[in-house]
Amino acid sequence: MPTSISDTSGKWGFPGKCDIPLRTLDNFVKTITQEIQPDFIIWTGDNPSHTPWQSNYDEVYNSTQTFVDLLVKKYNYTKPVFVAFGNHESSITDQFHPYNKTKNAEFLSTMQLINKNWIKTEEEKSTFLQYGYFTTKYLNTNLRIISLNCFLCDTFNFYLIKNPTDPFNQFKWLENILRSAEILKEEVFIISHIPPGDTNYLSECSKRFKAIVDRFQNIIKGQFYGHTHYDEMKFIPEYFNSSEIAGVEFVAPSLTTYSFQHPSLRVFEMDEDTKILFNYIQYRLNITEANLLKNDEEPKWKIVYNANEVKNYLLFIFLIFFFYFFSIFLFYIYLLYFT
Ligand SMILES: [Zn+2]
Repeated sequence: MPTSISDTSGKWGFPGKCDIPLRTLDNFVKTITQEIQPDFIIWTGDNPSHTPWQSNYDEVYNSTQTFVDLLVKKYNYTKPVFVAFGNHESSITDQFHPYNKTKNAEFLSTMQLINKNWIKTEEEKSTFLQYGYFTTKYLNTNLRIISLNCFLCDTFNFYLIKNPTDPFNQFKWLENILRSAEILKEEVFIISHIPPGDTNYLSECSKRFKAIVDRFQNIIKGQFYGHTHYDEMKFIPEYFNSSEIAGVEFVAPSLTTYSFQHPSLRVFEMDEDTKILFNYIQYRLNITEANLLKNDEEPKWKIVYNANEVKNYLLFIFLIFFFYFFSIFLFYIYLLYFT
């Protein structure tokens, strides 16, 4: 709650303990559909507002439906969308019962209906309706998307206290899917909400997930998460050689302003043949500037960095330091032997 007039939200929102208004969500969907026009969208959940103890399932369904309606009906996006749950897609937040299918039936069937454009084959539906995870393909390519149910590894899901060992056999299923993907020469993207290794992710799950990534690093070409709200990247080391990297978890910063930041969206660039990600571009909407616009003006998203340029910049900084210390070394040699 705002405590002074300077804390109150403007027309487009407020970077504080405050989620975005509907018009900012509309502006975001308009930007991605009309300007960026991606080939597909990865949507990693947490759609309801950050009022976990006041929310109910109607709010969860309405917030998810609102985004789907904007995307599909208002802005006519017809390309694939790959979805995963967030830990707020529940009432109460984080709570999902993995040992009582009846309890989940209404929740999962409603979420499937809302996402029916993207969870649609009989096999996808059947797996999702039972467990909340599923796998699908990107059109007729060899790119397989695996969407994991983060509730099954959520530290704050108290239903897991009973038995936290691979509820709903999610990791066993993941291994089977990856094994068959390997045989079929498919490339794989894993999407979920809470990144493995995070403090909100059970340590037992993190260990097993990292071992799976190590085993299947040859086909896992991308991992995409949200949850933290921050712009992060986590590296998974190889199981038996921690100096080598087995996989990278891309954690995109959030659309919400709830953690005192401006809304973000991220665009990845992928090689169509190999499915290797070779760059990403980070966009931001400056809410403070947006709130100063005239009434009929729409704010514009701006590129804040391009990952490849950051990489080159870091290399440039490294070279400066390298030549600096190398010249000191040469000077030292000169003093030692030539004076
Ligand atoms: Zn979350």
